[in-house]
Amino acid sequence: MSDCLFCKIAAGEIPSSKVYEDDDVFAFKDINPKAPTHVLVIPKIHVATLSDAKDPALLGMLMSRVQYIADEVLELESGYRVITNVREGGGQIVFHLHVHILGGKSLPF
Ligand code: AMP
Ligand code: ZN
Repeated sequence: MSDCLFCKIAAGEIPSSKVYEDDDVFAFKDINPKAPTHVLVIPKIHVATLSDAKDPALLGMLMSRVQYIADEVLELESGYRVITNVREGGGQIVFHLHVHILGGKSLPF
């Protein structure tokens, strides 16, 4: 999608702190981290929000990559939290589906 911030980040048109990339996903550090480690994982195809993600294969792929990035790339051995904010009421401000990985400290509920 031409005017989407995260599509532009995945395409390298806007700089980011990349932590992982493959054919399907792009992962980068959140610009306003809420924890010592705060990484966003996005599918390379544009999907606005979780409610629009109707393809089980896409969702399975995305969560599998989130697990791989958190455990094998970021090596968050003590654990981590995974969050997806959905639409305005869920606190979503960037409308390209993304999963937050938060870790590096003990997180309260
Ligand atoms: P959400 O509220 O789930 O839509 O979260 C969007 C996240 O994107 C926020 O945590 C922002 O800090 C983050 N963000 C916004 N712009 C950028 C950017 N250019 N690079 C990295 N993270 C960003
Ligand atoms: Zn997009």
